[in-house]
Amino acid sequence: MKKRSLFSIVLILPLVLTYHSNAFASKLSDLQNKQKQVEDKRSNVNSSIQKKDKQISNINGQQIDLESQMKQIEAEINSTDHKIQEKQLQVSNTKEQIAELKKNIESLKKRIEERDQLLKQRARAMQTNGGSVNYMDVILESESISDLIDRLSAVTTLVNADKEIIDQQKKDKADLEKKQADVEKKLNALQGMVNDLQQMKSQLNQQQAKKKEIMTALAAQKKHLEEDKFSLQEEQKVLAAQKSAIQKAIQLEKKRIADEKRRQQQLQRQQQQHQQHNSGGGGSSNLPPVSSSNFTRPAAGYISSEFGYRSGTYSGFHAGIDIANSGSNVPIVAAGDGVVATAYHSSSYGNVVMITHYLNGQQYTTVYAHMKYFTVSAGQSVSKGQQIGVMGTTGESTGQHLHFEFYIGPWTGPPHNGAVNPRNYVNF
Ligand SMILES: [Zn+2]
Repeated sequence: MKKRSLFSIVLILPLVLTYHSNAFASKLSDLQNKQKQVEDKRSNVNSSIQKKDKQISNINGQQIDLESQMKQIEAEINSTDHKIQEKQLQVSNTKEQIAELKKNIESLKKRIEERDQLLKQRARAMQTNGGSVNYMDVILESESISDLIDRLSAVTTLVNADKEIIDQQKKDKADLEKKQADVEKKLNALQGMVNDLQQMKSQLNQQQAKKKEIMTALAAQKKHLEEDKFSLQEEQKVLAAQKSAIQKAIQLEKKRIADEKRRQQQLQRQQQQHQQHNSGGGGSSNLPPVSSSNFTRPAAGYISSEFGYRSGTYSGFHAGIDIANSGSNVPIVAAGDGVVATAYHSSSYGNVVMITHYLNGQQYTTVYAHMKYFTVSAGQSVSKGQQIGVMGTTGESTGQHLHFEFYIGPWTGPPHNGAVNPRNYVNF
């Protein structure tokens, strides 16, 4: 029976190892795949962000161009406005000029009319009096030839002077009318210029409005791109967090695989050691089965004494549990993962090992007493199920057994107040 179980352990162990390492490897490669996926996604997001940046800077360039174009158009509009004002001033000046000219022409007309009237009256008067009679009067009243000549020439001069004045006035009027026509022509030209300028201005305004529309569209486009970029950056942050989480998981997984491998190797070593002991010494002892919980049974054998108060030969408080076994090489193993606190010879405990364990921040101490010898030393890390010595009867002991104590916190000396029933933690 014993031999068969040993065989099966030796046979199963490599299988278990292979199975585990495969399981771990597949988990690791899953993580590595995931890491690659996240990395790919990250580089995609990065190139998307770069694309958006390029588009945004393109729009920025267009905006700068447009702005300078709009400034130029604005300057043109301003100068056109100025020109329009100038021309309009000229128009109003010219209109005033025309009004002035019209007024002058009117008054000249009036004067010409008045003089015309006067001349006509004078001519009528001469005719009714009989032109020759009048001439005769002039002649008869003359005192001498020279006086007559004087008188005649005076009449003629008077008539001629009137005529000259009228001619001059008519000429003036014609000049004024010509001037008015010129000025009106000028006014037309000016108004034509004003119209042209106003047309030009409205074209410029249209251009400006179009540019403004483009500007608004560009701004909207830019805003959209910036929003896209922002959400990409958010995605990038999330991916970076995922990446570091996966990296951490990979590290932990690698460590776990390494730890597990070491542990399996230790277990294998122990099995081999045990096998050697068995084959060499021919004893009937073997390793206790390793429990999957935090703590395992520290030795194979039967419980010869429970924890607590007892009567009889060894009456009093029994701070631990006793496991007895008759083999010559009964291995004693660490009840849990931990560090050897002490391994020494005590007069009462005999060869004793104390192991400190930490579980979820809580310290525990296990004590293994009366060993034949121990195989570990203080400061050494041990794992659950790892052999730490061989069962014996050293110290205050009456037969081969393991005296096993369990403490929450550090070991406490007699009366061992910190000791608790090992059954609370170990399934015997
Ligand atoms: Zn005991």
